[in-house]
Amino acid sequence: MTKPGVQQNGQVGERLAPGAVIGVLGGGQLGRMMALDGTRMGYKFVTLDPQPDCPLGQISEQITAAYDNAEAAGQLAAKADVITYEFENVDAGVAALLEERSYVPQGSKLLYTTQHRLREKAAIEAAGAPVAPYREITSLESLQQAAVELGLPCVLKTATGGYDGKGQVVLREEEQLEEAYTRLASTGAELVLEKFIPFTSEISVIAARTPDGEVKSFPPAENIHVNNILHLSIVPARIPSEIQRRACQLAEQVTEGLNAAGLLAVEMFVAEDGSLYVNEVAPRPHNSGHYTMEACATSQFEQHIRAICNLPLGDTTLLSPVVMVNVLGQHLDEAISRSIRKDKAAISLGVIPKLHLYGKADSKHNRKMGHINLLCGDVEDALEWVKQTNIWRH
Ligand code: AMP
Repeated sequence: MTKPGVQQNGQVGERLAPGAVIGVLGGGQLGRMMALDGTRMGYKFVTLDPQPDCPLGQISEQITAAYDNAEAAGQLAAKADVITYEFENVDAGVAALLEERSYVPQGSKLLYTTQHRLREKAAIEAAGAPVAPYREITSLESLQQAAVELGLPCVLKTATGGYDGKGQVVLREEEQLEEAYTRLASTGAELVLEKFIPFTSEISVIAARTPDGEVKSFPPAENIHVNNILHLSIVPARIPSEIQRRACQLAEQVTEGLNAAGLLAVEMFVAEDGSLYVNEVAPRPHNSGHYTMEACATSQFEQHIRAICNLPLGDTTLLSPVVMVNVLGQHLDEAISRSIRKDKAAISLGVIPKLHLYGKADSKHNRKMGHINLLCGDVEDALEWVKQTNIWRH
């Protein structure tokens, strides 16, 4: 359904003013932080999530049901003026139902594209952005052939369902091909082989686009992963400003090419010669954009709400250097106890730590429980704080 006065792919979109109800499919930390900013802006929130008292449900109305429950999705559509989602693996049937019964400015096409690595790569290439050379893999023979064509090392990935490094294997020698193929093919997912890019850093740029076509991006974050989970985002990224500028331009180009509405997080590799490759995109707020909460004039969450409500986009200027560090289950107790004491290390380094907790009931190893934004004069001081605190020693 198209809301009265709203042309979903048109140029003159209606603005959804404060007071409107925003429905969020998924009530985790991304939805919660969206609602924290959105509530300040005057919007109301309702979420659909199977977990009672989920992070967003604690601060909004919640419909507690499975994501693929059509009746519950219908209830969400009836209550909300506009619907968004905080994860991309939304069931296709539910996405279609929501689009029919409510206003989903992000549409289901973007989800369809980003749920599958091959479709995603094709769309990124069609937008004129470079990706690592790749091949679709349909058999062991096609893998052997592709490995010869691309040259090892390569990365074999499942086209669907992988996250945090799951569903992928780095192949360095021919002898590894058969075992890796058997293992990943057994998941039933389609496979893709990518050339391994010996990157000097991994960065991401969060861009936003309104249904009216306004596009803006945030400064690139330099991302450091530990055990395939994001550990640090460093801003400004420690790369030349010319590469930063190109990264923003590329992210905006991909956002326009994909005809996105709302946020698009664009992850990239920076190669030794300074060239950029887009690795993957996510049509939602992104962990690597949490730094914007205190460090930018507008947060990624406010920007997402502005974009889906078709308001003018906010100023993305960086107000302070910042390092975002994730707090996983194993870091939680020490992060909390440090936050309630006088932090001498922070004072002496001139770092201002801002702790964000997501309200998750169960603290588990490697589960994202919160993050800390470290405002600083220089990112090296914030990195020194991370080292000195010992919170992240395991
Ligand atoms: P992904 O699930 O595609 O985000 O990959 C997880 C991580 O694996 C990335 O953050 C990179 O560190 C690494 N990786 C994935 N693909 C490649 C590639 N083609 N070349 C080098 N490293 C890669």
